[in-house]
Amino acid sequence: MEIQQLFDPDSSTYTYLVWDAHSGEAALIDPVRQQVGRDIRLVRQLGLKLKYTLETHIHADHITGAGAIRNILNSIVLVHENSRSKCADVLIKDGDFVPLGTQKIHIMHTPGHTDSDVCYLIDGAVFSGDTLLIKDCGRTDFQSGDAGTLYDSINRHLFTLPGDTRIYPGHDYNGRTHSTIAEERLNNPRIRKGITRDEFIVTMSQLELAPPQQIHDAWPSNLRCGTLDYSPASMVGCPI
Ligand code: FE
Repeated sequence: MEIQQLFDPDSSTYTYLVWDAHSGEAALIDPVRQQVGRDIRLVRQLGLKLKYTLETHIHADHITGAGAIRNILNSIVLVHENSRSKCADVLIKDGDFVPLGTQKIHIMHTPGHTDSDVCYLIDGAVFSGDTLLIKDCGRTDFQSGDAGTLYDSINRHLFTLPGDTRIYPGHDYNGRTHSTIAEERLNNPRIRKGITRDEFIVTMSQLELAPPQQIHDAWPSNLRCGTLDYSPASMVGCPI
């Protein structure tokens, strides 16, 4: 499986293009609407067939490019069934998988940051969204977030993966690109092995973070695959 990591500097969001080199089938994980042109050019330059856009959750800090990309490349939008999405093509759940060439994309439901978070496991790499970040984790103070639930998701799902599994996060604010399960189990200051569930809940309750800048636009728009303009012309390919 081939992976290209892409970055949106305004929101510090990582988007991933993953593809099967034999078949040319591809998926985009967490595309950002402002970067749709870049992503479509890359898919075409590489001669790939984009089958899916995969959302790790309904984002509050940027608007997804999934709907715009679907309109142009006829890709299928996947998001977890808890999302209350008005326009996804497939509502996924824990244990599902979707084929990508000769590979399978495995879906793990990992609620806690929101109740719709999933991680995608592909060929020894996990795309962890905001569930687990490098030396960090997603916040749990809005959008159905729950610190105890996030603790359980990370410990029961992610930290039981093989230690050499590569982690590709949804964001990084310090230029780091990837990590491994072993590294985060050992050295993640919020949730390394040995930190109890109660300790983690206290830590998360004391973060006092400002709300994401785009939360009032992003969340309702992302329930419609990133479409802010609800005119019929803008919703082509987005059945609601
Ligand atoms: Fe998020």
